[in-house]
Amino acid sequence: MDDDIRELYQEVILDHGKNPRNFRHPDDANHEAHGNNPLCGDRLTVYVRLGSDSRIEDAAFEGRGCAISVASASMMTDIVLGKTVTEVEALFDDFHKMCKGEDEGVALKGPEEDLDKLRVLAGVRQFPMRVKCATLAWHTLNEAVHGGDKTSTE
Ligand code: ZN
Repeated sequence: MDDDIRELYQEVILDHGKNPRNFRHPDDANHEAHGNNPLCGDRLTVYVRLGSDSRIEDAAFEGRGCAISVASASMMTDIVLGKTVTEVEALFDDFHKMCKGEDEGVALKGPEEDLDKLRVLAGVRQFPMRVKCATLAWHTLNEAVHGGDKTSTE
């Protein structure tokens, strides 16, 4: 990856980290879960309003953490909007593979437009400790939509 692109990526992460989208607690959320990454000190609560057709009508989060975890939560809450739980699971699976560098030569399932956005965060593959930061919001969302109230990063 050349330096220009790398810089752009960092800018996107810093921007989301500083000005997170959907950083709020919606009154009408019907699912929520807490996520905790003790290795880094990231703690997030993800709120979801799930429609009767399993479509995500609203997604938001609160909490504190490093720039990566907050940027990831910020991007995620934008990306999952309007998607079904099944679509979100497929995307999480793709993202997980990207973060662990296991996406080479593998057919990813999510829409290319979303995968492009998530690729910004996939630079964490060079820093194994950071993979948990990047995936915490997704683990927490997964837990929220399946009705749980707590998740670990394992
Ligand atoms: Zn972190």
